Amino acid sequence: MATFAGEASADLTSELSLASELDLIAFGQRLRHLRKKRGFTLSELGERVGRAPSQLSLLENGKREPKLSLLKTLAGALGVPVEELLRRQAPSRRAQLEMELEEAQRDPVYAALGLPHLKVSVRVPSDVLEHVLALYRELRSRESRGTATPEEARAANAGLRRKMRERGNYFASIERVAADALAAVGYRSGALSQSTVLALAAHLGFSLETVQDLPRSVRSITDLRNRRIYLKREQLGMHTPRTILLQTLGHIILDHAKPRDFADFLRQRVEANYFAAAILVPEAAAVPYLLEAKAERALSVEDLRDVFAVSYEMAAHRFTNLATHHLGLTCHFVRNDAGGIIYKAYENDGVVFPADEQGAIEGQRLCQYWSGRQVFRSPDRFSVHHQYSDSPTGTYFCVAHVDPSRERDFAITLGVPFKESRWFRGRETTNRTKSRCPSEECCRRPPADLAKRWEGYAWPSARANSHVLAALPPGTFPGVDEADVYGFLERHSPA
Ligand SMILES: [Zn+2]
Repeated sequence: MATFAGEASADLTSELSLASELDLIAFGQRLRHLRKKRGFTLSELGERVGRAPSQLSLLENGKREPKLSLLKTLAGALGVPVEELLRRQAPSRRAQLEMELEEAQRDPVYAALGLPHLKVSVRVPSDVLEHVLALYRELRSRESRGTATPEEARAANAGLRRKMRERGNYFASIERVAADALAAVGYRSGALSQSTVLALAAHLGFSLETVQDLPRSVRSITDLRNRRIYLKREQLGMHTPRTILLQTLGHIILDHAKPRDFADFLRQRVEANYFAAAILVPEAAAVPYLLEAKAERALSVEDLRDVFAVSYEMAAHRFTNLATHHLGLTCHFVRNDAGGIIYKAYENDGVVFPADEQGAIEGQRLCQYWSGRQVFRSPDRFSVHHQYSDSPTGTYFCVAHVDPSRERDFAITLGVPFKESRWFRGRETTNRTKSRCPSEECCRRPPADLAKRWEGYAWPSARANSHVLAALPPGTFPGVDEADVYGFLERHSPA
């Protein structure tokens, strides 16, 4: 079976344009390789495709993007299908090394050394290239053991959200893996029983141990040597032992290796969470259910939560996975605290979240007229709050709920563009707000009369900020105390 990482990158490659630098380098390598294999000089190939040798040389050096028409002509002249020219894989070990070194030298970590650019000519022996690359890889891994700055963390979050939006937050390959796993343990329909979850762990060759002394910095520990998963007896909120176990199994079944850097760590976490949700709210059962609810104009996150016995947050988030791909709906999702600080958000319906210069939204404050803020003011904050919100990019129908299953109060919002409200329960609400954010006039600036009266007379003492803003502790698994983890495994390991 191909690893998940491989499948995902293949999917992604097909979605990317030819223009990414990496592709250009690989393309140039292949072009040169195929040309030499056919025994053509640059001029000879140039003549056959009606281009100057200098132009072909730019292509071979990855310095220019080929037009589709030229690609076809080149493939024709070389007697290969176009796909052969576009394969990302390097044509030979030597070409692979040259490509990796080119890429390495573009890495800011490498560039920070201030060394002159190493031009790889045919005279540089392959073992020297291997040697330099080995040093580079060690440099990279030492670097990633360092602290991810809040800026890096926010940039990584923004990058990940962009990728999720591009695919409507639907990951076909993970849905497939989850469906196969469910089939393997005989799942048929409906909500998942505890015994099915346990069967899944057994199916993957793992046993479970419930313990009381799990290190504070982790949710679970997997002992890969003895194939055991350690969990704490009780956990609160969305992170029930069942969810944590499934996330852990997700990392294993998706073949996650040690994260390379913080962005990789985040990606793995998103994928593992996705897997857990795809098991607990299986696509095969949830999609017919949602389609029927849509046909009856009675879509609701509460119902999804109740039918599949998951937390409100998981139901709302899972809805975003299936909404665009299966229901043809765009939507948005936000989790924010009582002060309006955003912890997690997703959109592909054009709603504009407050963001910093890097496009990151974690730690930003939501407009006070949005439903995630309004729900905290409603008379019964734990009931479901429906509202229409006018914003500069359009009107949205939003459903917000403070999930009482969590240790702290967080509002979970699911929103859709106005025209899609007709499919949802609660659409008859008369709640309506108008947000002019990001205009300062909306809610960021105090009213002029109050500002005049109080300016210079207020000295607030700020509450220590949430973890989304704090520097992340160092380590391969950010925030995890490795010494604690190894100590724990040593104590619990069979003699
Ligand atoms: Zn506002």
